[in-house]
This record gives sequence, structure tokens and C-alpha cells, in this order.
Amino acid sequence: MTSTIQQTMLPPFHINFTCPHCGAVRQVPEQYVGQSGACNTCGGAITIDANTVPSLPRVSMVSQPRSWYRERLRYFEFCRENYALARAQFPPVENDAHWQQRIQEAVRCEDPAEQVASWERLVAEEIPWSVAYEYLVHHYVKERDYERAYYYCSVYFSSERWMNPQCVGGSHTLLKTMRKLDKKLNLEE
Ligand SMILES: [Zn+2]
Repeated sequence: MTSTIQQTMLPPFHINFTCPHCGAVRQVPEQYVGQSGACNTCGGAITIDANTVPSLPRVSMVSQPRSWYRERLRYFEFCRENYALARAQFPPVENDAHWQQRIQEAVRCEDPAEQVASWERLVAEEIPWSVAYEYLVHHYVKERDYERAYYYCSVYFSSERWMNPQCVGGSHTLLKTMRKLDKKLNLEE
């Protein structure tokens, strides 16, 4: 028995909207796209425009076979034992100064909801570093929103970013958490 049925189990989506007047970021449920109103922070007139804000990627939340996890664990082991070689083989992260600055901005957010929104916006922008995914997975596990936590694991492993040897610690943590969530959500065969 396979679990492709879980593909429809995506959590409700929010988009991260940035006010063009004051730069405040807030999360808006997807169904508000196209609506106009006033910014909560500065009162400026805003229209929630789906075309100007990145939305969270859609990925299939399928259960992964044991071999899938094993392959990734083997790669992490390879990276640890041959770090210089692995690093030489992996292309350097583009625009890294930009990402590092955005990471600092997210870390500095004092309002917890805004911090979550900042990390989610970075995921929507496909940040190549594991830190955003680690934060969100940890946050949603703590909130017991296991489906959303699994979603962020799935997004993380949906592109080659997990293969960056510089992220091996974060990737390993995310993989272990994903395996636990996989079992918990009964996605397994
Ligand atoms: Zn504003």
C-alpha cells in the first residue's frame, strides 16, 4: 500500500505580504489575494497582490522509503569524512552576502510571529541554507503542527540544497526529524 493519498494533505497556505510603504511583513491567508485594505503597521493603502509576493512552494508530502533516508545518511557520512572534496564538488552558494543579511534580519525579529513570517518568506524565496527550514520545523513541531513541520522538511529535500556540505549538520537534523514525523503521521506503508 502506498501513501500518495497524502499528497493532498498540504497545510493551508499563507502568503507573506510586504507593505510597499513601510516594509512590514505579515502573513495573509491565500484567499485574501486581490483584496485591498490598510496596512496594520502604517495605515497605508495596500492591495494583496499574488504576483508581487513569493508564495510557499508546493511539494508532494509523500512518505519516503527507508532507502531514501539511507541514501541521504550515506551522503552525510561521505561529507563528514571527505569534507574538502565534498565542498569542492558542490557549487558555491550564489548571492551569499544577500542571504546572510536576510538571515541576520530574521534572527533579529523580536516578535515571534514576525520571525516565523520572516523565515517563511525566506523559504518562499528558496533560501539555500538549512537554517530557515530548521527554525520552521522546530517551531511547528513545538506547536504540534506536525503536517506543516513535515511540509518544511519536504521542501528542504525537494532541491539540491540539502547536498551542500556546509549544511550537513542542519540537513542531518532535518532528516532525522522528517523520519520521526513520517512515522508519526503514518505516512509509511
Ligand atoms: Zn505599512
